[in-house]
Amino acid sequence: MTGSPTYTVAGSVAQGMHIKGVTRRFGQVDALTGIDLAVREGELLTILGPSGSGKTTLLKVIAGFEQPDEGTVCLNELDITYMPPAKRDIGMVFQNYALFPHMTVAENIAFPLQMRKVPKAECASKVQEVLKLVDLPEFGDRLPKQLSGGQQQRVALARAVIFGPRLLLLDEPFGALDRKLREQMQLEVRRLQRRLGLTALFVTHDQEEALVLSDRIAVMNKGRIAQLGTPQEIYQSPVDRFVAGFIGESNLLHARADGGNEATMDDGTRVALPLDADTENRDIGILLRPERARYLKEGDQADTILDGTVIEIVYMGETTKYRLRTDTGVELIVRWPLGAVRHALAMHERVAIGWDRNDIHVIQWT
Ligand code: ATP
Repeated sequence: MTGSPTYTVAGSVAQGMHIKGVTRRFGQVDALTGIDLAVREGELLTILGPSGSGKTTLLKVIAGFEQPDEGTVCLNELDITYMPPAKRDIGMVFQNYALFPHMTVAENIAFPLQMRKVPKAECASKVQEVLKLVDLPEFGDRLPKQLSGGQQQRVALARAVIFGPRLLLLDEPFGALDRKLREQMQLEVRRLQRRLGLTALFVTHDQEEALVLSDRIAVMNKGRIAQLGTPQEIYQSPVDRFVAGFIGESNLLHARADGGNEATMDDGTRVALPLDADTENRDIGILLRPERARYLKEGDQADTILDGTVIEIVYMGETTKYRLRTDTGVELIVRWPLGAVRHALAMHERVAIGWDRNDIHVIQWT
């Protein structure tokens, strides 16, 4: 997106949001249970979770379309839990664009300013500024149906930011776009959000999107926040099996720690544990990301080494994914760029793989 670098949105001091103890039940269903979450000023925080985990309900509580049974929502230290949606100064972008079909692009974008009784001339100049910001300077007179999906979503974004919202909510905004356009829009939203210093909450069930976009991610499961952290923390150090399985591809192997610096997998393989792992007697999960396993050539060393056979090959362009079965019957997925392997491996080829103790992450097995 291009536009004037000096652009600032009206009253644009972005503010943080604090949710405390938010619970929402629908009959027997606990959609949200004791949610505590703080979105820092100027931060883009993503709510990530599978279908039914409570993402939409949480967003509705924040936007004011649902009221919680318990708990509070504060924006800039102002308690907005029971404030009507229109009064909250929250900008929203949804998957289905929600543009007014009979209004031009410019009229759509001006709408929030008109609601706030901003004078016509000021409206017009702000609309032009925002149109430039979302890279649609010549599109003001068109109707939404004369725009592509990506362009409509930019209009929706322009309409959501023009009034200087205290919070920007984005609910699966790119779900309807094809992959390439989605990736482009993700970067554009990120740039716009940073440039305007907006506090933003992004909802998605797409873990790749969450990793690319976010300052921090809150992973939701069954109405609770399973983990809150940076994309790196969530990917590299998931707290439990749910988060490990939900984010990225992983090998999760059950093992028994016995107080030393190694653990025993179910097939009897001894695995060297990271030095900071809790090694008391207990069941643990060993998380090995497919890209952390190394292809071992003759004479290569590693803390843990396994021999096996290639049982599936998936060519993925920059990398190739191999499913291996070790000689002790464990199935593992590994993923290597072409240069990591001496030649493209063939089906049923024998391989030795290995990893060092700090290539794995240990989680609780509960
Ligand atoms: P999705 O990704 O499919 O939109 P979600 O993570 O947004 O899912 P929610 O829509 O928040 O999940 O739903 C959380 C739980 O609350 C689900 O079990 C859902 O069936 C239930 N639920 C949501 N809204 C209502 C409602 N109005 N009445 C009854 N149950 C509801």
